[in-house]
Amino acid sequence: MAARELFDVAVVGAGMAGLSAARALVEAGRRVVVVDKGRGIGGRMATRRIGTAVFDHGAQYFSVRSRGFGNVVAEASEAGEAVVWSHGFPVLDASGAMELPGEGHPRWCGKPGMTAIAKRMAVGLDMRTASRVEAVAVEGDRVLLRFEDGATIEAQACVLTPPVPQTLDLLDAGGVPLDAGERATLGKIDYEPCFALMAVLASPSKVPPPGGLSLEAGPIAWIADNQQKGISPLPAITIHASSQFSREHFDGDPAAVAVALLAAAERWIDGGASGVVEQSLHRWKFARPVSMFESPLAVVHRTPSIVLAGDAFAGQRVEAAATSGAAAARWLTRNERSGT
Ligand SMILES: Cc1cc2nc3c(=O)[nH]c(=O)nc-3n(C[C@H](O)[C@H](O)[C@H](O)COP(=O)(O)OP(=O)(O)OC[C@H]3O[C@@H](n4cnc5c(N)ncnc54)[C@H](O)[C@@H]3O)c2cc1C
Repeated sequence: MAARELFDVAVVGAGMAGLSAARALVEAGRRVVVVDKGRGIGGRMATRRIGTAVFDHGAQYFSVRSRGFGNVVAEASEAGEAVVWSHGFPVLDASGAMELPGEGHPRWCGKPGMTAIAKRMAVGLDMRTASRVEAVAVEGDRVLLRFEDGATIEAQACVLTPPVPQTLDLLDAGGVPLDAGERATLGKIDYEPCFALMAVLASPSKVPPPGGLSLEAGPIAWIADNQQKGISPLPAITIHASSQFSREHFDGDPAAVAVALLAAAERWIDGGASGVVEQSLHRWKFARPVSMFESPLAVVHRTPSIVLAGDAFAGQRVEAAATSGAAAARWLTRNERSGT
């Protein structure tokens, strides 16, 4: 990264909110940079490989209701990078009875994995990955992003899309003054954690078609068969722990957590735990917001503008994050002139 660069808008976070904001701002003629601490992009729309097995270990599927996000998905669908996975999934209720899904709205997924959507949205954007912002500060009429390697980026405005507690840490680290009432409201936004266990299996799983199952009781909330989903050439399951289990064991021994989750998933694995060839546990500290901000964006500083966006501003889901990012871009294009 060059020592100091100047942009119209700096977007922190290359998840759905950040990418959606950046695309709209570039379309409006702004000079935009997107930075993300991750090596890859997509944020919680995450895909991982273990050998040749492929796993979506964050968001599993998404709905499409709005026109803006619909256009993105239609473009990806034409390129074969978004497909309808299902119109619903079976549910195992607390009594152990299986409810089969009705013919609901389409549940889409990315191909070959959820990150495909993010990669498509990022085409043509100035992306800086493996770039962790340490502080967001205000210097005169500019926003200053400070990175852990000492580099800085200056912009006339900024969109911050990390989970809200992380965003507040960045603003505090840079000493940005916030309205006390708004700071208190934002400070109350809480997220539930989630363990995601990825397991490569020796033989196809016993997860019922179409390869996704919700569970209403016990330590597991969701189990997905990435092979049936059409993204993994090898039998590969993703297990999401329930929010209660994840909260209770979040700081516990990862090996013990994996054993407990595999024991609970035994019924869906041919040969039980001995049918697992390889496994990996991921901890999502900020998986889903459990409380929401009352509007799709929060403007926490004027001149220069600092706008917060993400799923906590529009509703817990991939499409909501995209909607919030687009709303942040709309606000900025109405309220900011370009001029770097
Ligand atoms: C386990 C799990 C299952 C889910 N299942 C579904 C589902 O089936 N359907 C659905 O619609 N939604 C689901 N969700 C929710 C969905 O993934 C999110 O709502 C959505 O992806 C959030 O997008 P976002 O852009 O707001 O945030 P994120 O995707 O979290 O993007 C924020 C980005 O900011 C970056 N960042 C953070 N701090 C810094 C920093 N200091 N410097 C630089 N970059 C930084 C992060 O690396 C990240 O890429 C699930 C989430 C999880 C975790």
